[in-house]
Amino acid sequence: MNPYLTHYRCALCGRTYALDAVMYTCPHCGAVGTLDMCYDYAALRRAVAPDALEGFSLWRYAPLLPVSAPEHFPPLHVGWTPLIGATRLAAALKLREVWLKDDSRNPTGSLKDRASAMVVARARQLDVSVITTASTGNAAAALAGVCASVGMRAVIFVPAKAPPAKIAQLLVYGATVLLVDGTYDDAYALSLQASAEYGWYCRNTGMNPYTTEGKKTAAFELCEQLAWRAPDVLIVSVGDGNILAGQHKGFYDLHQLGWIERMPRLIGVQAAGSDVLVRAWEDGTSADAVQRGGTQTIADSISAGLPSDRAKALRAVRETGGAFVRVTDAEILAAIPALARLSGVFAEPACAAAYAGLLKAVERGLIGSDESVALLITGSGLKDIGGAMQSVAEAGGYPVGRDFAAVHEVVRRLGLL
Ligand SMILES: [Zn+2]
Repeated sequence: MNPYLTHYRCALCGRTYALDAVMYTCPHCGAVGTLDMCYDYAALRRAVAPDALEGFSLWRYAPLLPVSAPEHFPPLHVGWTPLIGATRLAAALKLREVWLKDDSRNPTGSLKDRASAMVVARARQLDVSVITTASTGNAAAALAGVCASVGMRAVIFVPAKAPPAKIAQLLVYGATVLLVDGTYDDAYALSLQASAEYGWYCRNTGMNPYTTEGKKTAAFELCEQLAWRAPDVLIVSVGDGNILAGQHKGFYDLHQLGWIERMPRLIGVQAAGSDVLVRAWEDGTSADAVQRGGTQTIADSISAGLPSDRAKALRAVRETGGAFVRVTDAEILAAIPALARLSGVFAEPACAAAYAGLLKAVERGLIGSDESVALLITGSGLKDIGGAMQSVAEAGGYPVGRDFAAVHEVVRRLGLL
C-alpha cells in the first residue's frame, strides 16, 4: 500500500472508511456509492516533487497511486501516451488550441488499460488468482491483455453482440469469455453474482475504486505534457462515467498538491440513445435518484443504462462548472472520418462521440475561441471496423482493374492533374 493513502470516502454520502474495512462500494449507499481513495496531500507535497518522477508509463506516478511497490506492477507497457497538438483541427473550429490525448496507443488499444493495470497490480498484492469483469469490450480486452502478461486468469462477461474485433482480442489473450445474450447491464449483473458466489476479485468499472485511480493517470500525463498546466476544458465521452470520474480525480490530486493552478471544466458527452447522465444534469437530479435509461447507440463502449459511476460523473461536471451534451448516432458516425481527416487520429465510435460533443459545445458557446481544449482519445478505430465502414459508406474506392487508362480517367475526373 502507498503509505500516503489514508482512507476511502463515499462519493455520494461522504462517509469515510478504513482501507481494510471495505472492498468495493459504500456499505451505506450500496452500488451508487462509489468510493474515492483519499491521500495525505500535505505529506505528499513534502515527499514528492514533480521533477523527480521516473520512467515513462503510468507507474511514473507510483507515489500518487494506491499500489506503489514495483514488484506488483504488470510488465505490459501502459500509459505515457502521446499528446498531439491538433493544429488543423483547431483552425477548422476557430479555437486557439486543441490537444488530443491519444490513449488508443495503449497495448490493447484503449484507455481501459490504465484501469486494468492498476486492478491487476492490486490483485497481485492481494494474491488472488481469478479476476472477473463485465465489459462492453474495451475493459475486457484490457483486463485479458494485462492478465496474460502476469499469468492471471480473467473471466469476462461480455454482450454477445460486442464488435467482433473486441471479442477476438479476448479469445487471443486466452481469457474465459462468457457471452451474455443481453446488454452490458445484464453482463454487469451476472459478473457481480459470479464474483460474490466464487470469491473472484471484481474489476467492474466504477464499483472497484482502483479503476478510477488507474484512469486518473491520463489526467496526470496530460498536465505534465503541458508543462504542469491543465487545459481550460477537457471533453470526455461517457458511458459508466468512470473515465470522466478518473480525469476529475487526477486533476483534483494535482490541484491539491499544488502542481496545477486550477481545475479544468469537464464536459461529458453521451449518445442520445443512452443519455441518463445528460438528463440528470439537465434536471438537477441527484445521483441516487437516477433511473435506468436506454442503451441504444452505435457507440457500444458508452452504452450504459444505469452508469455505475454516476455519483462521481455528475459531481465531476457540477463541481468544475462543466456540462453534459448529447450527440446522435448520425453525428457520432460523421465524427469518425471528420476527426481522422483533420488530425490523423482514427477513433472508435464511442471516442468519436467526444469530437461530436466538441462540435456541439462550440456551437452552443460552451467553449470560448481563446480557450485551450483537450479531447480524450479513449479507443482505437480498429476496435470497430463495422462502425468505421458505416461512417464512410458513401466514400468508397475507385475500381481501375489493371488498366492505367482507367487510373488516368479517375485522376482527371478528380481534378488531380
Ligand atoms: Zn455512501
